[in-house]
Amino acid sequence: MADIIKESHHVNESESFLNFDYRNMPGAGFSFDCNEDGSLTKETLAKPDAMRNYAYCLEECKKENGEVVALGVKTRNYRNFVPAVIKCSKCTKEHHLGYGRYPDTQCSCGQNYNAFGQELRDNYQDRSSYAEYGETW
Ligand SMILES: [Zn+2]
Repeated sequence: MADIIKESHHVNESESFLNFDYRNMPGAGFSFDCNEDGSLTKETLAKPDAMRNYAYCLEECKKENGEVVALGVKTRNYRNFVPAVIKCSKCTKEHHLGYGRYPDTQCSCGQNYNAFGQELRDNYQDRSSYAEYGETW
């Protein structure tokens, strides 16, 4: 069993979007990653296509009956699971355990672990090898 360096936990996160809809097609339009104050993120600013669309939205919003209407900032809050961090019992490197659909992990040294930090033998996925451990399938 590997030593758990940091327990699994949840972190609260959020993401914000600056939204614009087509005036004649509510629910369809543009959404840009932004900060909570509505300023575009640096990732959005680095995307030429997004900036072209953003400029289009701003221009249309200035017009009295432009094709696009501004909906403002919408923020979505969510919780993310962060799996435990272990210290490998074989090489002492630290790494996250697996979880969910991918519960098993392999350290860079080759040692396999299940989601609880228990060491798994090298050939644990080969069911034909289970007989030597007294298990049958
Ligand atoms: Zn290791």
